[in-house]
Amino acid sequence: PANAFTLMGGLVRPASRGELTLTGPEDDDPIALDLGVLSVQSDMDALVASVKESREVGRQEALAEWGPVEIYPGADVSDDDLEDYVRSSVVTYHHQVGTCKMGTDALAVVSPHTLRVYGLQGLRVADASIMPLVPSGNTNAPTIMIAERAAKFILDDVN
Ligand SMILES: Cc1cc2nc3c(=O)[nH]c(=O)nc-3n(C[C@H](O)[C@H](O)[C@H](O)COP(=O)(O)OP(=O)(O)OC[C@H]3O[C@@H](n4cnc5c(N)ncnc54)[C@H](O)[C@@H]3O)c2cc1C
Repeated sequence: PANAFTLMGGLVRPASRGELTLTGPEDDDPIALDLGVLSVQSDMDALVASVKESREVGRQEALAEWGPVEIYPGADVSDDDLEDYVRSSVVTYHHQVGTCKMGTDALAVVSPHTLRVYGLQGLRVADASIMPLVPSGNTNAPTIMIAERAAKFILDDVN
């Protein structure tokens, strides 16, 4: 329609975890990335709750004079059927992180103190892949901060 408003639910701290897999031994073999979207039920429950809440907000008296008509999911979709709607309409917010996380546990790939890759000489990783958790906020600024820290670590070694 010519005039409309949108309310959109966003899951900023998903419990679902994806997987990045090598497809072959060569460095130009493509990687296989499975985001594992909505593979944990609590993520689905949170998004369904968010859509319900958005519906409730959209139906408030304060908005009534605008005469809003629900286009998506659509008035014919009951609250009980929102899971199907969420699964078919979900999109990514492009904040994939953590395939190479920093830390000291068994799954950690780089050291939090130097960003050096464990078990290898002369290799550091400095990008969004080292974030151990999906941050609630956007990922560009933290990535720049990681790069600035990496520059300091490298200069500290040189000087
Ligand atoms: C569509 C979209 C919208 C986004 N919007 C926002 C936003 O509004 N705000 C925000 O904070 N974040 C946003 N993000 C997320 C943010 O862009 C990323 O988190 C951030 O760019 C990650 O930085 P990075 O250095 O880890 O990876 P990238 O920025 O992906 O950098 C990786 C670099 O490595 C290069 N490269 C890859 N393979 C090789 C190779 N073999 N040899 C040499 N170089 C290679 C690539 O060309 C690229 O330059 C968005 C992401 C996307 C995809």
